Amino acid sequence: MTDCIFCKIIEGQIPSAKVYEDDKVYAFLDITQATPGHTLVIPKEHVSDIFQYDAQLAGEVFSRIPKIAKAIMGAYPQAKGMNLINNNGQVAYQSVFHSHFHLIPRYSSDDPGF
Ligand code: 5GP
Ligand code: ZN
Repeated sequence: MTDCIFCKIIEGQIPSAKVYEDDKVYAFLDITQATPGHTLVIPKEHVSDIFQYDAQLAGEVFSRIPKIAKAIMGAYPQAKGMNLINNNGQVAYQSVFHSHFHLIPRYSSDDPGF
């Protein structure tokens, strides 16, 4: 899609720090690192949000997430856990309307101490 920043990232028109890529999925560091290693996983197909997914696309994206999550944990060995977050719609805090999944590594300093 012409005016989509994430489509431009996939096409290399906007630079990004690539974490993972294959024919269906691209993953790159979020420009605003909530924690070190904060990564966005996106389908290469432009879909605005989860409501646009069919089962095939969901499978393509979700089947990659464990591999990407483990690669991030390997690259950030101090990480002890990870949040997987997906916002859908502005009222749900979505600000970029090319569907994406946040993988946010968590560290000892994030521990709520339950
Ligand atoms: P959302 O609020 O839609 O769930 O998350 C969008 C995310 O995209 C934000 O965390 C924001 O920092 C990130 N973002 C926005 N523009 C860019 C960009 O040009 N490059 C990268 N790497 N991340 C971006
Ligand atoms: Zn797009």
